Amino acid sequence: MSTEPDAKPVVDTPEAEEPPAPLTPYEMDRYECRPCGYTYEPVKGDGKSEIPPGVPFTELPIKWRCPVCGSRPKMFTSIGPAGKPSGFSENLGYGLGVNVLTPGQKNILIFGSLGLAFLFFMSLYGLK
Ligand code: FE
Repeated sequence: MSTEPDAKPVVDTPEAEEPPAPLTPYEMDRYECRPCGYTYEPVKGDGKSEIPPGVPFTELPIKWRCPVCGSRPKMFTSIGPAGKPSGFSENLGYGLGVNVLTPGQKNILIFGSLGLAFLFFMSLYGLK
């Protein structure tokens, strides 16, 4: 009696070694022109110099200049990616969790609570 050989092929599953995903435009640092305050945002690119959206500041052509004041790229300072909480990173642990909110989330919190307070106030007219 021969037992049926287990026809179970050895499946060699190679570990999926994917290269690290390229940074999304929201993870790329924005750079601010120190002389004039213009901010280069990789999400938007620079339409004036025909830089398409998605080009990080470090890959701009050498002859690129600030579209507002004409400064060289070395006059720019990184101000971090767009969705980053504002303020110093040492302070993110304080403030009852409010410090880790992005500026957009803070706007929603502030103006949402103002709107809610206004609705509550207006609802007083419904009392008899
Ligand atoms: Fe500038």
